Amino acid sequence: MTDEATELTMNKTRKVPDATRRSSDSKSGRYLGRPAWGETQPEVADSSAMKVVVCVKQIPDPADPGALDPETKTLKRDSKLILDESDSYGVEMALQLVDAAGDGEVHLVSMAPNNEVSGLRTALAMGAASATIVSDDALQGSDALGTAKVLAAAIARQEPDLILAATESSDGYTGTVPEMVAALMDLPSVTFAKSIAIDGGAAKIQRQTEAGYDEVECPLPAVVSVTAGVVEPRYPSFKGIMAAKSKPVDELTIGDLGIDADQVGWAGAGQEIVAIEDAPAREAGEIIEDDGDAHERIVAFLDELKVL
Ligand SMILES: Cc1cc2nc3c(=O)[nH]c(=O)nc-3n(C[C@H](O)[C@H](O)[C@H](O)COP(=O)(O)OP(=O)(O)OC[C@H]3O[C@@H](n4cnc5c(N)ncnc54)[C@H](O)[C@@H]3O)c2cc1C
Repeated sequence: MTDEATELTMNKTRKVPDATRRSSDSKSGRYLGRPAWGETQPEVADSSAMKVVVCVKQIPDPADPGALDPETKTLKRDSKLILDESDSYGVEMALQLVDAAGDGEVHLVSMAPNNEVSGLRTALAMGAASATIVSDDALQGSDALGTAKVLAAAIARQEPDLILAATESSDGYTGTVPEMVAALMDLPSVTFAKSIAIDGGAAKIQRQTEAGYDEVECPLPAVVSVTAGVVEPRYPSFKGIMAAKSKPVDELTIGDLGIDADQVGWAGAGQEIVAIEDAPAREAGEIIEDDGDAHERIVAFLDELKVL
């Protein structure tokens, strides 16, 4: 965004209400100095350990997306799953925040069938320290809330300072899981973050809007969903790939999390997929011949789309 655009943007600063969290003593004063608004790279003056959990969804490879199961109407996930690109931004942002804090670690949490860790290994190779994978036959058929219950229980075991997720996953999204996780954990939730700065036990977030961004502040711990494309996810180095092979991955079942089978999976699903249909074929666009007024018609067209 240019300086001019920033000035034209309707920026609002508001505070997200406080929520149940750890005692303020344990969190206060850990980070000093003011955050640099507008900088993606977070600034943290004090060096004290920061633990960031990133929710990482592992999805079928979009290059070979597989198929929908006509019986269950869900995506078949029996092949290798990879790191959802949407979540690579959260991983990158978490790594930058921990770097800026000077100390700490990034932990990944994923729910996927068959103890699948291929996508987690990619994020571990980027630099995350450790991971939790929750797999259980009873999780088949879990809707967004069932998924959020599992993630919230697994995240709580880590006692993080900050929880990051993507705003929506790529394979079949509701864009509601991070907010559900926050509600279940009774934590503040901020969505569509384009940058995050940590300042004295609080997160200062630039929250992307149609017109620009809002400046939002909330106490930690908090759940923040990160907009795709706001940071440049690092490529795993060869050293990182080798190191990832031996990084700890905790394999859990719902029993380990104290979750009953009737709360998740088909048994606990409040959502129902009633039908699946092929997406409509793309229609041909309009070709505008220039009779001298082409520019006006293009401007009118773009204006109608509200992209001007
Ligand atoms: C009735 C029903 C049955 C379903 N059955 C199945 C099934 O059997 N198997 C199946 O895989 N899906 C199933 N789904 C889809 C499943 O509910 C969603 O994929 C899941 O709830 C995640 O929601 P989302 O993709 O909408 O997340 P979004 O809200 O779009 O995701 C936002 C972010 O939340 C985080 N996140 C979301 N899901 C996960 C995850 N699993 N692990 C870690 N982080 C995550 C990621 O950071 C992600 O980018 C079913 C859905 C319904 C309605």
